Amino acid sequence: MILAFDVVPDLEATMDIQIPALAWQPAGLGRWERTYYPQGEPVVVQVERDHQRLLFSYQASPDDARLIGDALTAAFPADKQIDNLDLDGHPVLTSLRARYSGVIVMTTPAFEALVLTVLSQNRSGDTVRQVFPKLAAACHGITAERIAAIPVAELADLIRSAGPYKAARLSEAAATIATLGDAAFEQIVRQPAPQALTYLEALPGVAHKTAACVLVFSGATTGTLPVDTHLFRVVDRLGLATHDGRNSKSVAAKLISTLLEYGPDVAPAHFIFLLVGRTTCTAGTPNCADCFLAEECGYAIARIEEASR
Ligand code: SF4
Repeated sequence: MILAFDVVPDLEATMDIQIPALAWQPAGLGRWERTYYPQGEPVVVQVERDHQRLLFSYQASPDDARLIGDALTAAFPADKQIDNLDLDGHPVLTSLRARYSGVIVMTTPAFEALVLTVLSQNRSGDTVRQVFPKLAAACHGITAERIAAIPVAELADLIRSAGPYKAARLSEAAATIATLGDAAFEQIVRQPAPQALTYLEALPGVAHKTAACVLVFSGATTGTLPVDTHLFRVVDRLGLATHDGRNSKSVAAKLISTLLEYGPDVAPAHFIFLLVGRTTCTAGTPNCADCFLAEECGYAIARIEEASR
């Protein structure tokens, strides 16, 4: 299967940090792979870039191939590269779009987004990439009903390196969602953001950041975004949404509304701040000398002015 894009896909950056990408593992030579369970049986899918296309390889029956094709088309939406997004509300956003133009804004089904986000709480992406395939294999594909059917002790063992203490709450959340079914859960998260957040935040172990991850990474909303420490730091330094450094609930809410005033596409694109935060704008002293944003960044400009006094 082939998916064509307007801009050469930046597969490495696409797979770096987004929650849906954590279901994929590096397979060498620029390839990535994950296992799908379209009808309960495993099908390994590999993806690699070829010029302006992504090439997917797998062996499956016609029915499985159709289901996998649908999943891949949704996971790597051809019209949702950073280059396609409206990020003209601030010059810094326009520069970020130019730098990350080829990154694809991935999506994943809402329940899978919830599982990946819970696994990633206080854990690295590498850990999630080790745990998720074992969990998916144990239940022949991630659904709320199948996760809820796993005894909590067994679930804790399966997700041990991502935090066994998460098992009880994940199991309880899965059981609640299973009473509706995954399809109904998809409808719930597609309600307006305030209602969807209220539902999600009532689930065990789901606070605002996790709920916002589920909404954004399932493609359900442009009305909120998750605020993590990297985004919190980078948007302040850039002067996009300044704050006093205290990441309280009210400060995070103000930061979200400030960012969304630059346009709703800031929500699906929010992870580009994390990409900057992992490279030059790190938590200690930022490496402004090597940062493509230095000429328009409030923090860097202030440091230069200080030095010239
Ligand atoms: S110029 Fe410096 S402070 Fe501004 S985003 Fe880049 S690394 Fe961060």
